[in-house]
Amino acid sequence: MVSRHLFFFNGPVQNQEFTFAEKPGKAVGIRIAAALNQLLGHSPVPHLWNTVTLSGDLRHRHTTTWPRRPRADVEADAIAAKYAPGTWPPGGIVTDADRPVADLAREMIAEALSAGTLTISRERVRVCAGCGHMTGTADHACRACGNAATRAHVAEHLVAERDPARPVVAGEDIHAFRRRAPLQLRNAAGNVPARLILSRTRAYGIDLEAVGLPGLVLDPRAGLHVAVLAAARRLQADVAVMTTTANAALNVAAHGQPFRTHHGLRLRYVLHGHVPYSAASVLSQVYERHQADAATQTTFETWFLPLYALKEKNGVRTEQLPALFKHFSRARRARPPHPDPQLIDNLHRSITEGDADWVMRQSVLAHAMTSTDIPQPDDEVELTGAPTP
Ligand SMILES: [Zn+2]
Repeated sequence: MVSRHLFFFNGPVQNQEFTFAEKPGKAVGIRIAAALNQLLGHSPVPHLWNTVTLSGDLRHRHTTTWPRRPRADVEADAIAAKYAPGTWPPGGIVTDADRPVADLAREMIAEALSAGTLTISRERVRVCAGCGHMTGTADHACRACGNAATRAHVAEHLVAERDPARPVVAGEDIHAFRRRAPLQLRNAAGNVPARLILSRTRAYGIDLEAVGLPGLVLDPRAGLHVAVLAAARRLQADVAVMTTTANAALNVAAHGQPFRTHHGLRLRYVLHGHVPYSAASVLSQVYERHQADAATQTTFETWFLPLYALKEKNGVRTEQLPALFKHFSRARRARPPHPDPQLIDNLHRSITEGDADWVMRQSVLAHAMTSTDIPQPDDEVELTGAPTP
């Protein structure tokens, strides 16, 4: 049965300095979510952004314009600058510091505190001797000001008490056929401490004062899960599938563990590999050989390759591109005038079960292209900039 309430979201992208035209690889998760939601017949979902970053704190602190603009405005402008003119996401954007995200986070924390799955306790941490930034539990130089000296500091923190026997990522947390988490994620639990501090010193983020921790914010690795849930809650989803690479999941999964379910809503990860967008010369040779027009190139790069990256979780390799394009363009030429409803039903089932193999079946791919509103040259939503001539 097809779930009407399963939506895909991109794992929140760090709001660093880049544009999608320069770094189309940063858009892979966004493109996967857009393509799969569209195939399921959903309206576009928001693009999700991670703005609670130390680099964002530092940029804002060192800004020379005076009076200093509100951080949220600076973050919003930096996000807007990533999109080429005319490509603003139709579903809008959500950041991990937005009010609805913060409200949901505090609601979840309050419930977890009363259930005892999270606690507030006095913890001995290291803080920078210069600026007071919390450097963590280990003694290393301050990443906020560069000061090498840290001192011990005892203060109240938000703490997750983990059951060390419970995996950080279990089968139920993964959106994959037969729900098997990859070995590296299943083994991750062994490296995570049993007590995990979820509060940080940051200039910006989800303020924890309301739960009794003034001056601290929720660790962004936890907060980005809440951003996904908040966006999913608005759409009345019951499953929110977040796109991520295995490495990115390893970085955030432990901190996100207490923030993956809420009142019947569940977050799952769907893993994907990188797309070799930097192989522009290989791509242009392939396009030339096949006399591919601009629309074909755009669809291949922004739709097919991201979907194929769901199959190649260790990354799509440059040498695969010629064969992949041949497969894709055959299917594109074989697009039927009307999609077969039975075949599309099966496709929906594959997508909701996390089976990514359909993308290599030519007839399914052809029907999928017909069923979905593939970007056309006139109205394409294009994130890579101009296609290679
Ligand atoms: Zn410092």
